[in-house]
Formats: sequence, C-alpha cells, structure tokens
Amino acid sequence: MEWAERSQIEQRAKDVLVQHGLYSLPIDPVNLANLLGVTVHNAKFADDSWAGLIAKRGQHTQILVEQSDPPYRKRFSIAHELGHHFLHLLDDGEIVDKRVDMFREKQPTLADWSAQRRREVEANWFAAALLMPEELVRQQWAANPSVMALARAFNVSQEAMGYRVDSLDLEVASNVV
Ligand SMILES: [Zn+2]
Repeated sequence: MEWAERSQIEQRAKDVLVQHGLYSLPIDPVNLANLLGVTVHNAKFADDSWAGLIAKRGQHTQILVEQSDPPYRKRFSIAHELGHHFLHLLDDGEIVDKRVDMFREKQPTLADWSAQRRREVEANWFAAALLMPEELVRQQWAANPSVMALARAFNVSQEAMGYRVDSLDLEVASNVV
C-alpha cells in the first residue's frame, strides 16, 4: 500500500465534505457516514481498551463506537473510522481500534513507524482534517485565537483542537501580528 502524504489526506477530507454539502460548522460525521451508506451504531465492547471498529462486507459498511464514550470521543472515533473507510478498508475486512491508537495524533517516532502505526496516524490525520478543516480553523482563529472557543465552535475536545492548532502552526502565526 502506498502511504498518503498528510496534505493529500487534508485535501481528501475537504473534498468529501464539499461533495456532500457538509463543509460548514460543526461537521457531523454521523450525517456524512449515513450519506455514504455507512451505518453507525453504539456498542458495548467487552474489551475496555476498544474505542471503535469498522467492518466492511460487500456493499455494507458498519461503524461501531463505544456507547459510554463522551460525545466528543464518539465524533472523533467515527471520523477516524471514516478515515479507514476512505484510506485503508478498500476490500472486505475489519479494523478494530484501541484507545491507544485513536486518541493521540502526534507524529510517531521513527521506531514507531510500523505499517499498523502508520495506518492509525493516517486515520487520525483524516479525522482531524474532517472535523477541523484547515481553512475553517484558520478563519475562526483569525477572528478569535482561543483553543477553547474553537473547540466549542467545532464541537471537538480542547485536546484535539490543541493538537490541530499546533499542527497548523497557528500559535506561531498569531505571534507575528
Ligand atoms: Zn484506527
């Protein structure tokens, strides 16, 4: 499998939103999934370390998220699974996501750059780009450079928005003014 550049993943996520008329705040990943014909369900996973999974069987793709997770986490989990849908799950199969894979977006170290880790990083990049599109983040940040305010506007956790702001170098840009 060819690995995607982060910029390609950003563009892919934006294209998907625009194509489905969902390029406005806050992004609704469940709505997007439904428009794609992907069903989303709450589940009670027996294993506490699981956060979500996606399974594809022929024309039917299903996403499950842990029902006890808070709404922010579920939104991120669904967006992450949609990343696997677009980038990795091209044939029948399933991907199970543990919390440790999903809720950290930082660049892995070289030693960590296994194929599986890379796949998870790509899905997290996609999730960040889907829920926090770069241009919309930049617009909002220009109006009000506050991670808390942006987290609210985009309906994501402050942690997720903090990573996003860092990865877009927005703190540096705001210091230039
Ligand atoms: Zn994953």
